[in-house]
Amino acid sequence: MASFTLQGIPVSRGITIGRAHLLRPAALDVQHYLIAQEQVEAEVQRLQAAITQVHKELQTIWSDLPVDAPTELGAFLDVHALILSDPMISEAPLDIIRTRHYNAEWALVTQIDVLSAQFDEIEDDYLRERKADIQQVAERVLKVLTGSAHSLPRSSGVDEKNANMIVVARDISPADMMQFRDVAFTGFVTDEGGQNSHTAIVSRSLGIPAVVGLGNASRLIQQDDWLIIDSDAGVVIVAPSPQVIAQYRNSQAVLLKLRKKLVRLKKTPAITQDGTEITLLANIELPQDAVAAMEAGASGVGLFRSEFLFMGRTGQDHQLPSEEEQFVAYRDAVTAMKGRPVTIRTLDVGADKPMDATEHNILNPALGLRAIRYCLKEPQIFLTQLRAILRASAFGTVHILIPMMAHAFEIDQSLAMIEQAKAELLRENKRFDDRIAVGAMIEVPAAALSLPMFVKKLDFLSIGTNDLIQYTLAIDRADHEVAHLYNDTHPAILQLLQMTVSAAEKAGIPVAICGGMAGDVRLTRLLIGMGFRELSMPTALLPEVKQEILNADIGALQPYVKKILRSYDPVAIHETLTMMASSSTLH
Ligand code: PEP
Ligand code: MG
Repeated sequence: MASFTLQGIPVSRGITIGRAHLLRPAALDVQHYLIAQEQVEAEVQRLQAAITQVHKELQTIWSDLPVDAPTELGAFLDVHALILSDPMISEAPLDIIRTRHYNAEWALVTQIDVLSAQFDEIEDDYLRERKADIQQVAERVLKVLTGSAHSLPRSSGVDEKNANMIVVARDISPADMMQFRDVAFTGFVTDEGGQNSHTAIVSRSLGIPAVVGLGNASRLIQQDDWLIIDSDAGVVIVAPSPQVIAQYRNSQAVLLKLRKKLVRLKKTPAITQDGTEITLLANIELPQDAVAAMEAGASGVGLFRSEFLFMGRTGQDHQLPSEEEQFVAYRDAVTAMKGRPVTIRTLDVGADKPMDATEHNILNPALGLRAIRYCLKEPQIFLTQLRAILRASAFGTVHILIPMMAHAFEIDQSLAMIEQAKAELLRENKRFDDRIAVGAMIEVPAAALSLPMFVKKLDFLSIGTNDLIQYTLAIDRADHEVAHLYNDTHPAILQLLQMTVSAAEKAGIPVAICGGMAGDVRLTRLLIGMGFRELSMPTALLPEVKQEILNADIGALQPYVKKILRSYDPVAIHETLTMMASSSTLH
């Protein structure tokens, strides 16, 4: 097969080399997960049992056929029974389960994909059309499988054999990404998505190379193709030659060495050349991420995206996590951070983070019932979460961060709900930090343009640049068609950032950045030069940002920062940023 290269949007760092594992498009979606070695035979039997049941179903339909039924109907059932008995359907998927540890549904659709591709090549029209029969048979088996899908636990015990799998998909929902967290996938490639879509965010926090927005990669790449992901360049090389693989293995080794060197900085405080300390915080999605954040030397958690505890729970007994379950999760993060602050953002669901993956919204979801809007409409869910966060605050330093606020009444109602939660806990003799800090995310332009409304009532601000850019530039952050317009140094964005840092400084309250800009080394000097002193980012990016801070001199950056903030010319802004990058660098 000839090698070819695809260009997409880089969303994380590094190089990975592995084999393609295709996830089918959402419309035909089935669950994809890996089976632990000791459960493989049980999974094989699950598929065999489903096939046997479909055989029985076909027989029953046969015997129930009315005497005057058209003969084609019987013939049609015979064809389906034959297909079902063919080793290509009855044996090959079992081998896939045994060798690749795919779950039964995934193994079956993988085999169907292979067969469908072979049928597409057939010249004879009649035979080519039998592809539809194969798919119908597969669907019958899938129906039986999914009816009993909950009986087997998902596995995270994956062996070395799977260590070089690269997921290729049209798109991966944030909830599905979470399922892949514990599994040894080494890269992600998707047709859709933008730099700060939530899928991209999760892959960044996993610290694995990913390229999104590739357009039609999932159609061009075949199951098991060798792939190289160069995520810094946003490039995917399909079917590379051995020479190219060797070349990339070298670069990979160099990068790893560099990373190891940077990790040694973990205990070094992030102080600039001229003595200003910058607080570097971690963004986390699940409580267990706090451990890695501590190991990387984060000064705290600047953003705990609590919504990930609420996602992908369809099919569980109770859909939403209870107060107790949430409390344990928040407390675990807080205790793992050993007294360092943990900023827990209240539920930010909706838009591209639906709680239930089957939710579809034909209106523009990003402008809809999201984050605090959802919480205020569902006060009981909000109150339960606030109680859980408050209870966790008895175990360390916790800050509450409210997403997407734009209106004064949203601030007032949120604060009132926090007071109500406190009053309830007090009555129940449950411990909490009565002086817990409450802050707002600045991610809607309206908020950045009405800062006095926020600084008066809140203890701190945190800028969500991902959404701020989305809403200011009217660019859907998950839509690869407009990804080229997603520009974090657009003058409008820089002005809003400047206004926010100035207003917070004037009011004497801290302001952090917790969106993607905080972890972008290209922008570190600009942000600290503008006055930002707290940056929160995926743990994997902390060392590089720290290195950039250690080399920078805030005084020397000022002329560049002024020039950038005065400019409305993107080329000039870009040039000044490049000049600033090499200023005051230690050699
Ligand atoms: C942001 O919008 O920048 C942010 C940090 O929140 P999220 O990416 O979770 O929407
Ligand atoms: Mg946001």
